[in-house]
Amino acid sequence: MMTVNVILPLAIADTYTYRIPDGMSCPEPGMRVLVPLGRKTITGLVYRINPENSDASVIQNIRLRDIIEVLDEQPIVLPSQLSLWRWMADYYLCTLGEVMAAALPARLLDNDYTARTEVYISLDPQYTDAEQLQPVFDALQRRAPKQLRLLEYFLDLSGVFDGTPHPVEQRQLIEQSGESTAVLRTLIEKHILCASHEVVSRIPSYDTDVEPAHPLTPQQQRAAKEIQSGFADGKVCLLHGVTSSGKTEVYIHLIRQMLDQGKQVLYLVPEIALTTQLTDRLKKVFGKQLGVYHSRFSDMERVEIYRDLLGSPEPKVLLSARSGVFLPFRNLGLVIVDEEHDPSYKQQDPSPRYHARSVALIMAKAAEASVLLGTATPAIESYYNAQTGKYRLVEMSERYAGLSLPRITLVDLKRQYHRKEMYEHFADPLVSRIREQLAQGKQIIIFQNRRGYAPYISCRKCGYVPKCCNCDVSLTYHKRTNSLICHYCGYTVDAPATCPSCGGEWRDIGIGTEKIEDEASTLFPEARIARMDMDTTRNKNSHQRLINAFARHDIDILIGTQMVTKGLHFNDVSLVAVLNADSMMQSPDFRSSERAFQMLEQVAGRAGRTGSQGEVVIQSFSPDNPLYIYLQQHDYAGFYAAQLKERQAFRFPPFYRLIVLTIKHRDFSRLDTAARELSERLHAAFGARCSGVIIPPVSRVQNMHLRTIRLRIEADASFARAKAIVMQHVAYVQSMPNCRGTIIQPDVDPM
Ligand code: ADP
Ligand code: ZN
Repeated sequence: MMTVNVILPLAIADTYTYRIPDGMSCPEPGMRVLVPLGRKTITGLVYRINPENSDASVIQNIRLRDIIEVLDEQPIVLPSQLSLWRWMADYYLCTLGEVMAAALPARLLDNDYTARTEVYISLDPQYTDAEQLQPVFDALQRRAPKQLRLLEYFLDLSGVFDGTPHPVEQRQLIEQSGESTAVLRTLIEKHILCASHEVVSRIPSYDTDVEPAHPLTPQQQRAAKEIQSGFADGKVCLLHGVTSSGKTEVYIHLIRQMLDQGKQVLYLVPEIALTTQLTDRLKKVFGKQLGVYHSRFSDMERVEIYRDLLGSPEPKVLLSARSGVFLPFRNLGLVIVDEEHDPSYKQQDPSPRYHARSVALIMAKAAEASVLLGTATPAIESYYNAQTGKYRLVEMSERYAGLSLPRITLVDLKRQYHRKEMYEHFADPLVSRIREQLAQGKQIIIFQNRRGYAPYISCRKCGYVPKCCNCDVSLTYHKRTNSLICHYCGYTVDAPATCPSCGGEWRDIGIGTEKIEDEASTLFPEARIARMDMDTTRNKNSHQRLINAFARHDIDILIGTQMVTKGLHFNDVSLVAVLNADSMMQSPDFRSSERAFQMLEQVAGRAGRTGSQGEVVIQSFSPDNPLYIYLQQHDYAGFYAAQLKERQAFRFPPFYRLIVLTIKHRDFSRLDTAARELSERLHAAFGARCSGVIIPPVSRVQNMHLRTIRLRIEADASFARAKAIVMQHVAYVQSMPNCRGTIIQPDVDPM
């Protein structure tokens, strides 16, 4: 008897075994099947066929249930994808079902994808040329002027008169003629026009005339050559190029070569950087060969892009955020990970908690494709790999067109406050710099990494601070909507006018983008000011609209969170201001300095991208922090060396690999028992590599109490064996009666 292992989109078991009933032809791995599960039927994906008399089929042949139906004639998931899923499930400690749920657009699995059809209108076949229509014209002229008008519009749009007749989309016809569908229906009923349904693609078509790419500068040429020689030696390349050195031009050049060799390219960018600025630039050079895969696309659109790739090994470049690693490439030649340092490449929730850069490396290796990582501020881990010879390091230290890197000035907030040379949160020197730039018709970006008006409010009399009822955090005050919002769970209430416990007045504490916007409009009343953060970019195209407006110079000052740091290119930005840089370094996370450096260097990189040298003003209470010195000198290597020492001293990556276990329960005492038990067991197995139970800074989210345990494993030890031991203990603790209902989530290589 033959059996198959089927992946079901569940987090319980890895695969489920079913029997192939007599008479059913054997499916292939990657095909969808309908199977019974309990009393339901469910769609799954064939993972493996166990031939007759194999161990798997013999052991399990008792009481196996039958596959109900095979749904595909061709696999919808390629063998290369299945092995990648296997790797992900093993590495990130989850089930194949969880990987599948992340990997496939939902409709692809459910099979409830429907093709989009449009109604097209053409001339009824009885009329072969326009002259035959004369009697119709005459009749309509007398009795039905509306129908005549519609018919005339149709003849115009359909090209009947100029000898190239083609059907016209019904929607277009109605829109342009301004007549109703009822009028159209009458013409169809009279057999003058006829309608047909045709399947159309949802994928935006970039079928435009293509232009040749820009010729590369000598520096870019050298970089491209070094990258190619790295690829020839089978190396992953890290392109470390300062902001505006033209990394994108180098990518374009390499992509062109791949396409000319008939290969496919995956081009990964952080989600927020997937703007029309970039798509337009690529569309110009690659035209139809460009595909875009985007979370803002509907599931249907994503199914079409997926199927398109599945069906053909034609050369293509797919621009995508992290989920592009799940696409079915048949002919992959190159993967580019742009802004490789960006934390958004890591999926936090739900499982699989994967890092797209790591997955891209595995994916490319299996396909024998090359990998290029690019950034102005490499992740410490990546630079370490380049320093130790695992990757090939390629540097571009000059900006395009001989521009200088921005000049960075620090403003000492202690001194400014002491001398009372502040207006609210703007130091006097910054105010004058902004005024000067505005007077010269320049644009300014103000960076403040906190949205809302004030991170929290507190009562002036009794000190009461409103907190979230589901989470252990204070609520953020949003002035525009006069509400208090939890940034962890989204809980929202109207802000009470006065303190509910004593009736006292509120004082707001800390600064968010909204407050900066208010202060800026008072300080610079003549300037056009806009704000870009999660609150102002919730609608589908609002992010894009803000970027376009700023690029058109309809906005003078753009205030924003880290959203403004990502890969944008504006011509007239001469000044970037960071109002409170210290806050970024105060979190206890071992990556906080790295993050702060990357964010500041990236946001600084928005200044002075054309014309004269840009300027960055950073306000800080501790301007002598060495991080600022490295930043002022744009000395990434110096910063890296200092960080690496700390990483080694405090036993962090790249010297150790981390696993963080998050333990969750609604019931505090069960959580506590489970966390202690797990910690004790891991301590017995791993000794000092186990952190013990950690109370996280926010220890209750959405009514779940939280604890974490961190494990560090030496980089040269067997990570797989360590993970296997961890998971045994996790399973044991979860099965203990007094820990029932405990959720334990492993996060491998946490960010
Ligand atoms: P990066 O990706 O390194 O930040 P970009 O590739 O965006 O830099 O380049 C910055 C600007 O310089 C862009 O406007 C780009 O069009 C221009 N540029 C860079 N290299 C060239 C080139 N070889 N020819 C023409 N323009 C270039
Ligand atoms: Zn909350």
